[in-house]
Amino acid sequence: MAGPKHSCGVVGMYCSEDVATGIFKALRMIQHRGQESAGISVFNGKRVITAKGPGLVHDAVKPNDLKALSGKCGIGHVRYPSAQNKADRNTEPIEVEISNGVIAIAHNGSITNYQELKKKYLDGLGWTFLTDSDSELISKIIAKHLIQNNDPIRSIRYTMSEIEGAYSLTILYNNRLFGVRDPYGFRPLCLGRIEDGYMLASESAAVDIFRGDFIRNITPGEIIEITEEGFKSYPSASLSQHRAHCMFEWIYFARPDSVIDGKEVYQVRRNVGDILAEEHPADVDLVMPVPDSGRAHALGYSIRSGIRYEEGFMKNRFVERTFILPDQKQREASVVMKLNPIRSTVKGKRILIVDDSIVRGTTLLKLIKMLRDAGAKEVHVRIGCPPIIAPCYYGVDMKSRDQFIALKHTVEEIRQQIGADSLGYTSVQGLVKAIGLPENDLCLACVNNKYPTKIHEEVHRFQARLKENY
Ligand code: 5GP
Ligand code: MG
Repeated sequence: MAGPKHSCGVVGMYCSEDVATGIFKALRMIQHRGQESAGISVFNGKRVITAKGPGLVHDAVKPNDLKALSGKCGIGHVRYPSAQNKADRNTEPIEVEISNGVIAIAHNGSITNYQELKKKYLDGLGWTFLTDSDSELISKIIAKHLIQNNDPIRSIRYTMSEIEGAYSLTILYNNRLFGVRDPYGFRPLCLGRIEDGYMLASESAAVDIFRGDFIRNITPGEIIEITEEGFKSYPSASLSQHRAHCMFEWIYFARPDSVIDGKEVYQVRRNVGDILAEEHPADVDLVMPVPDSGRAHALGYSIRSGIRYEEGFMKNRFVERTFILPDQKQREASVVMKLNPIRSTVKGKRILIVDDSIVRGTTLLKLIKMLRDAGAKEVHVRIGCPPIIAPCYYGVDMKSRDQFIALKHTVEEIRQQIGADSLGYTSVQGLVKAIGLPENDLCLACVNNKYPTKIHEEVHRFQARLKENY
């Protein structure tokens, strides 16, 4: 098994004033990247201290915690909900103490050789672990090197040569702050200048709220150190031959107002809609998004096709996320609670709905039925990415990805199952064009089953299953 799967959000900040409130605000800007738990660590002049807990950022870190977290440099984390690995002990930042001080790390991604490395250190060196989190492993490996050389850059570099897979990290070692991105750049990480200092964040939208200047993305393989005066870059000695930015960041995961690796998320989604309208035209009365993630895709479709855009679903923002609920009945009930049709938009109309992705097909099955019950004459479906057929080992929750409808069914069969009048997915080529980066610089593993890195054991098993099904 690969390591635990979770996509998350990370922040780092170094200022001339206290940073905890700033980190708190930045974490709230990337709250969509994780709602299970959150935490902040700062260096208070003597040592690293941490406040963390379950829930949204403002539940996990209370005003009293913020007051206590006095210090000029720190890191923060929001953790994605996943059905497994819910334990509180996995909450980040994770701290490790050595004789020279404390290392705290916040991690977004997933280490693909986690089990092998953990076994090596458990069996071979008698280490103990408190969590099932690959972030603890990373922090302990960094600590191991720091004990030997007390040089954080060298220690991080050695660690990078041991771990494989996806990692965007913010690291606090006493009063020193670092940002690290894996050599493929699977997960985003950017650098910004704010009024009285510098910050690191998973998404550029977190820099925007400080009216800060977005400086640039951390280059894949790069280590950045932020100090009181500015930042220093330590490029990696052994860059991988190509990059592998996760396409799902643009399609679903990131905020539309963020710019990732030079491409604004909103614009990419508009482009996808544009391309969908060309690849899969339809004779309908109106185009409707499945909110929120399908909005910009639907708008792009509407503008390119000239077909009117309407809001036809009202979203209840206070319902738990349907996607991670453990059983199908609960997921279906939750979709009904979450989205309700606007009858006047729908009645008697031929409708085209646009969603970002189909995983199990639960959402669309329910929505199409709702639209028909509300009087829709026809319901056509367009999807902002190609059929998802392969699990993600780089940080998007896998538990939820083991039941892909597209693994066992053709597009026509899926259309029938969800009860649509027509169904069209964005092609892989269309998706690549919409993002606007070379195909070789993207991770498209979940839609083309080509993994940018070596994946141990389970991929072979999975590929055998793929062959059986096609
Ligand atoms: P399905 O209902 O087909 O299983 O999932 C598709 C829906 O879930 C889409 O509306 C999409 O926006 C959303 N979705 C896709 N991937 C993820 C994910 O990794 N996490 C969550 N929470 N939602 C997702
Ligand atoms: Mg959605």
